Amino acid sequence: MDVITLLAAVLVNALLMMLALVVSVGIRARSGLQAWQFMLLGQAAGFALLIGATLALPRLLATLGVMSLSFSASAMVLTAGRFLSQPVSRLGLLLPPLLLGLVHAFVFQDQKQATGLTNLIIGLQIMWASWLLLHGAERVRWRLLCGFAGAANGLLVLGRAVLVLGWPEIYPRFIAPHPLNFASLMLLNASLVLGTMGFLLAHRDAAEQALVRLASLDPLTGLLNRREWMNRAGQALGADAVGGAVLLMLDLDHFKRINDERGHPVGDEVLKLTGEVLRGELRASDLVGRYGGEEFCLLVRHCDAEAFGRLDSRLHQALRRRCEASLGFLADFSAGAVRVQAGETLAAAIKRADDQLYRAKHAGRGRTECADGVL
Ligand code: GH3
Ligand code: MG
Ligand code: MG
Repeated sequence: MDVITLLAAVLVNALLMMLALVVSVGIRARSGLQAWQFMLLGQAAGFALLIGATLALPRLLATLGVMSLSFSASAMVLTAGRFLSQPVSRLGLLLPPLLLGLVHAFVFQDQKQATGLTNLIIGLQIMWASWLLLHGAERVRWRLLCGFAGAANGLLVLGRAVLVLGWPEIYPRFIAPHPLNFASLMLLNASLVLGTMGFLLAHRDAAEQALVRLASLDPLTGLLNRREWMNRAGQALGADAVGGAVLLMLDLDHFKRINDERGHPVGDEVLKLTGEVLRGELRASDLVGRYGGEEFCLLVRHCDAEAFGRLDSRLHQALRRRCEASLGFLADFSAGAVRVQAGETLAAAIKRADDQLYRAKHAGRGRTECADGVL
């Protein structure tokens, strides 16, 4: 087999993987996989142009070819950035291919410089993408797969740069049937396949996480939904460490009136604000959920009587203030609090808190009634 045939095989492989991605997951604007599709397209176009350059217009086609490969390396950086939700500088993505194009066209007659520079710039770009993927990857499988595949390829490209700049007499020309050329193309092909597999895995992981989020969060307030809150609170009560936590059931006052007088969307805004207030005032170790309609449930851990008193008045004040500032009227809630007893089930604690809530409503609303032991 000659190098051109192998090159053509890599090109066809890149194109097929790109098409397979388009068919299987579609072109999802601004997603990581979309950037990876551009990366594959850039590889295919780059190699097609380099093959073309051996037949005609060598300076123009080879320059466009190396630019395309460099744009493709930028797309690899962008893919990593998107999957990791890390912004990458536009200048960092655009400058290398543009600079490479200019300099390559300029020094084209000097094969040593043109090849050395091309491999150096593209190698550094690939190492940048690999560093993003591997840095802090811990045991995330897709990051390790894509990162190591990229790093192996990047090191090889940098190795070519060092070889051509340091020992140009033994450096094989791009299309020469030399073992180094065969090995690099095989490695490139393997890293494209592994990268595609890794990013597909990342795509699946992201979809799975989105599903878990959807299944456990209330879409309006972003708080845990009732099922998830019950699960987690049940687990927390099962663990000894949470004995003595305070359970608080909270219900907005005259919420029906808010809906009737101001409209359902304003009612929704009040619910969202309540979610924000609860999230803002509680600690990460506390559990807060939307129990139903305009009812919320809280499990507050490690909370002595004094701390609970302060928290409760902060919640009432913050909700009143936030509603007045954002919506121009006051909204408040009634609540019932109990301290979970050793061995008590979640259902029993909720029932006791509900009884206290009922008392708070009957005592005039806008207050929290506490069972013995809370305050
Ligand atoms: P009380 O002070 O006794 O709690 O009176 P209330 O009006 O708040 O009590 P009630 O339980 O009668 O009303 C609850 C209302 O909450 C009825 C329902 O239409 C409304 N509601 C439930 N879920 C939503 C929601 O997602 N958005 C909006 N805007 N309203 C909701
Ligand atoms: Mg209610
Ligand atoms: Mg209510």
